[in-house]
Amino acid sequence: DSLTAISVPACFDYALRLYQARLRSAQVEVERHWPAETTWVVADPVRLEQVLVNLIGNALQAMSDSPRPRLILTIEPLETDVAIGVADTGPGIAEEHLGRIFEPFFTTKAPGSGLGLGLSISSRIVDDLGGHLTAANRPGGGACFTVTLPRATTPA
Ligand code: ADP
Ligand code: MG
Repeated sequence: DSLTAISVPACFDYALRLYQARLRSAQVEVERHWPAETTWVVADPVRLEQVLVNLIGNALQAMSDSPRPRLILTIEPLETDVAIGVADTGPGIAEEHLGRIFEPFFTTKAPGSGLGLGLSISSRIVDDLGGHLTAANRPGGGACFTVTLPRATTPA
């Protein structure tokens, strides 16, 4: 296992770099809401990056018809944990689907555009790291996913 103190902003930067071309062509406004000082979590960088890549990918797919797409990223240091948020301005998650989206192979996407594995794998990864992944709808519309992981007090 390679659990170590890792920088959450650096993991977001990695994921955003992967989607750079898509963010630009879809004219997505990226909002970064986080403290000036780097926030660290105990995790494995590759696995946290994979989770963020999955969540941002879902957010971008959900906003494909949004007139003014916004990707809202948050890092909130708590007492012993860190809440890491990925939210969007898409249609949100239907009430009747909220309890099922973490099931393997659950997808509402057209055949070929989604296997329905991203959230189940992401949830499993975050659980293995000692945290949890939750989903909600934003009051103003759109979905919001929160990764909670143990906070690291000192950098690696
Ligand atoms: P896939 O993306 O292949 O469908 P996921 O496990 O990543 O599989 O997501 C499962 C389902 O959860 C999606 O098909 C969709 O219905 C819902 N979902 C995930 N992210 C979002 C989002 N940002 N907005 C709305 N619905 C979402
Ligand atoms: Mg997905």
